[in-house]
Amino acid sequence: MPAIYSRCGKSGVLLPKVSLGFWHNFGDDAPFERSRAITRFAFDHGITHFDFANNYGVPAGSAELTMGRLMDEDFRPYRDELFISTKAGYGMWDGPYGDWGSRKYLISSLDQSLQRMHLEYVDLFYSHRYDPNTPIEETLQALVDIVRSGKALYVGISNWPLEPLKAATQYLRERDVPLLIYQGRLNMLNREPIEQGILDFCREEGIGFIAYSPLAQGLLTDRYLDGIPADSRMAKEHFLKSDRRTPELLEYLHQLEAKAQASNRSIAQEALNWVLDQPGVTSVLVGASSVEQLKNNINTIIS
Ligand code: NDP
Repeated sequence: MPAIYSRCGKSGVLLPKVSLGFWHNFGDDAPFERSRAITRFAFDHGITHFDFANNYGVPAGSAELTMGRLMDEDFRPYRDELFISTKAGYGMWDGPYGDWGSRKYLISSLDQSLQRMHLEYVDLFYSHRYDPNTPIEETLQALVDIVRSGKALYVGISNWPLEPLKAATQYLRERDVPLLIYQGRLNMLNREPIEQGILDFCREEGIGFIAYSPLAQGLLTDRYLDGIPADSRMAKEHFLKSDRRTPELLEYLHQLEAKAQASNRSIAQEALNWVLDQPGVTSVLVGASSVEQLKNNINTIIS
């Protein structure tokens, strides 16, 4: 049985091989008791890392509010057993200061996230995307100062291209706030971090890599084999459009299903193990709309 935790790059942090993301299914648009059941199931099975961003949930911010309620009702005694991340970088509030990568935005957004989650600090704070119009030093110095202020223990970067990532690695290292982790989309249908050299760079530099949407938002599961379920992400036609369900995808899924069955796995397990097998990957960051899904996902990886 593989170990549950992986070392995050060359750091002291161990992350579970499967981490839980709160982008969908944990906001005001989801039943609280279901969110609670998924979160508790995760923690009870060693999933110690929960990932947020300021804008997760419908309406934006409501996933962090759910976490605040869970902290009060369930998780406060276990705060030191949890590794909680959040991010800022995409549009969050009106006007010129609620988007992109300014010092003004990052610092005030983290303050708001802490208030919503009823936390004094997060374990990890990310720049959610690269801002080509803000001096890179401004964004990075904000991350350094956030760590110095005690509001985050580590910093991460998500969705940055390779060249700014290299500059960030150096800048942060020179200020003794080494980049802990890179968060990028990696799955069997989208291999950009490999093709663009990002995964190799992280591995060489001792930076962890956490793969988001490792199931391609549910495409790499049995969810859409027989149609589009009414309660699925695709049925909402927003982040996952129905035109992704092509004959080519279904053909690919049937082949994957045959391969998975040969190893006694589900399609989702096959897809997650593929990501975890890529050298340099620390953890897969999955979403789930039920305990059953999460249970299926951790089986063969954590059990
Ligand atoms: P996944 O690729 O894991 O997709 C999750 C969805 O797949 C679930 O909501 C569910 O869909 C479906 N699913 C999951 N398990 C199963 C299963 N066993 N059987 C059938 N269907 C299943 O990840 P997400 O796209 O949700 O992203 C995960 C996390 O990554 C986010 O919560 C967030 O933390 C992070 N993220 C970060 C981004 C960034 O820019 N840094 C961008 C996107 C995500 P359904 O809801 O329809 O049931």
